[in-house]
Amino acid sequence: MPDVIHLLPDSVANQIAAGEVIQRPASAVKELLENAIDAGADEISLVIKDAGKTLIQVIDNGCGMSETDARMAFERHATSKIQEANDLFAIRTLGFRGEALASIAAIAQVELKSKRTEDELGTCINIAASQVKKQEPCAGQNGTSISIKNLFFNIPARRKFLKSNTTELRHIIDEFHRVTLVNPEIKFSFFNENRPLFTLGKANMKQRIVALMGQAYNSRLIPVSQDSDVINISGFIGKPEFARKTRGEQFFFVNGRFIKHPYLNHAVDNAYKELITGDSFPSYFIFFTIDPKEIDINIHPTKTEVNFQNNQVIYAILGSTIKQSLGKFSITPSIDFDSEPSIDFSKISLNKSASTPTIKINPDYNPFETKNNQKEFPKQKSKTTDNWEKLYPGIDLLPKSSEQDERTPAGNSISFMGVEPEDKKTSETLYQLHNRFIIATVKSGLMVINKQRAYEKILYERFLTSLESGKSSSQQLLFPSTINFSQGDLEILHEIENELKMIGFDFETFGKNTIIINGAPSGVNNSEIGDVLESIIENTKRNLKEIKIDKKINLAKSMAAKLAPRYGKTLQESELRSLIDRLFACRAPEYTPDGKPVLRIITMDELEQKF
Ligand code: ADP
Ligand code: MG
Repeated sequence: MPDVIHLLPDSVANQIAAGEVIQRPASAVKELLENAIDAGADEISLVIKDAGKTLIQVIDNGCGMSETDARMAFERHATSKIQEANDLFAIRTLGFRGEALASIAAIAQVELKSKRTEDELGTCINIAASQVKKQEPCAGQNGTSISIKNLFFNIPARRKFLKSNTTELRHIIDEFHRVTLVNPEIKFSFFNENRPLFTLGKANMKQRIVALMGQAYNSRLIPVSQDSDVINISGFIGKPEFARKTRGEQFFFVNGRFIKHPYLNHAVDNAYKELITGDSFPSYFIFFTIDPKEIDINIHPTKTEVNFQNNQVIYAILGSTIKQSLGKFSITPSIDFDSEPSIDFSKISLNKSASTPTIKINPDYNPFETKNNQKEFPKQKSKTTDNWEKLYPGIDLLPKSSEQDERTPAGNSISFMGVEPEDKKTSETLYQLHNRFIIATVKSGLMVINKQRAYEKILYERFLTSLESGKSSSQQLLFPSTINFSQGDLEILHEIENELKMIGFDFETFGKNTIIINGAPSGVNNSEIGDVLESIIENTKRNLKEIKIDKKINLAKSMAAKLAPRYGKTLQESELRSLIDRLFACRAPEYTPDGKPVLRIITMDELEQKF
């Protein structure tokens, strides 16, 4: 028998490598942006067409390439960034594997134009499916422009695998965020379908975060900073009240590179534990600077995973740093700065086996409550005063309360977080403000309840309880109705079919795209069923696929958000009372399942200050 083993041609080997490095247009965007940064550019443009499926172009003003280098750049394992194996532990560039351009050229049509400052003319090279089509001198600006056309044109199976333009563009924007956040000193622009999507000037870190995430972040961020021998930490974390329901805004960067690190993520989550609801996630933008020899980046072709040699020490430092910041900004008094010497991380040496820093934490501490048995901390200024500004104008339209006597309303004996114990007793007289807010006098001032959110919270608890107990109330429809869904949406309905049935939906599939509804949870009108199911599908797509929250919680949340009456009718006093009682009977009535405030108290002090 003849020998059967042979070396694969480069073009095939490159295609195989491309499978790991370039999964979708966003991966190519990442590689090209990183190359531009490694080239020392301080101005980079990204141009996208058809969510990167037709065109991805990156133009930089970096160092450019010589004629020979431009050709070499597309060879596999061709790099200017490392020379020998030892260099792997001293990496200061984003690239080093010399794979990206070779991989991209194996699966797309590529045109590269590049010119160094010292050269009169630049060079232009065209490659498709690893074949050089032509290379010729060309005039042009200093720097490099690279266009990737028709990604996966020669691998139809991969091209078919790409998701909708919306999804692929979302991935590209995510990569763009990851690269631009950590390079605020570089100007970036991003054109999508010939329209500017982002234009980012030179900035500092905070300005860049705000430019990308939105103006609202200006007041949402708390700085973190910690220098130690092991690692330097800087960046920003979000105030707990702005924690999000998706994991989106969580960024770790190590030496200028975005990374994913579930272990360190846990350290952050832990620091926030008592401050946010279990189903929300704190935002963070955390930048680590560490000696490259203390980390290993070369564990995954996309270089988004990094091993730290001192994982546990870094975990402890990070957790404490975040708690310190939250504490310093009066978000949580988890460290008593008066009695506790602050932790000096500079003393932690890499050579000694480091012990986990200890922090004295009051386990009984409830951030929303001030009790005598808890340590007293300086009263923080109300974080919500700004929002109330909008409310004040309407308040003097209210009838004056003659009712000074405060009684505990019947059935309102359940304690709830966030309000001083004496404020659990609301006045007997309740007011409605423009049908949207309920106002009650309480011991320390005025309690304002957002009516729609109160409904949402109550409904959420009701649905969750029936899902958890398996006891739901369903009403059968007199005339079963049919609803059409896309194939994909129908698939999602089937994925959560059990839960939908548990909550009271009764339906069966009919044909390829249709379901017949025989029954719905009581309280859901006939005309609402389609809408409700649609929003459940939407939320499931978002939540289950991306962040894997519990199916039952997701379902209860979607139903509650959809069915809570927006403004509702004007309620009678007894109905208001019953609404409040039902709200207070909920777990943590202060917040909606998404962590938005349901009620707030304007204290007498705050009111006095207004006059
Ligand atoms: P790596 O970045 O891992 O070195 P790449 O395949 O991404 O591998 O790039 C190969 C080489 O091409 C780089 O090492 C660099 O020398 C050169 N190169 C790529 N893009 C640029 C650019 N935009 N400007 C200048 N040189 C570049
Ligand atoms: Mg590279």
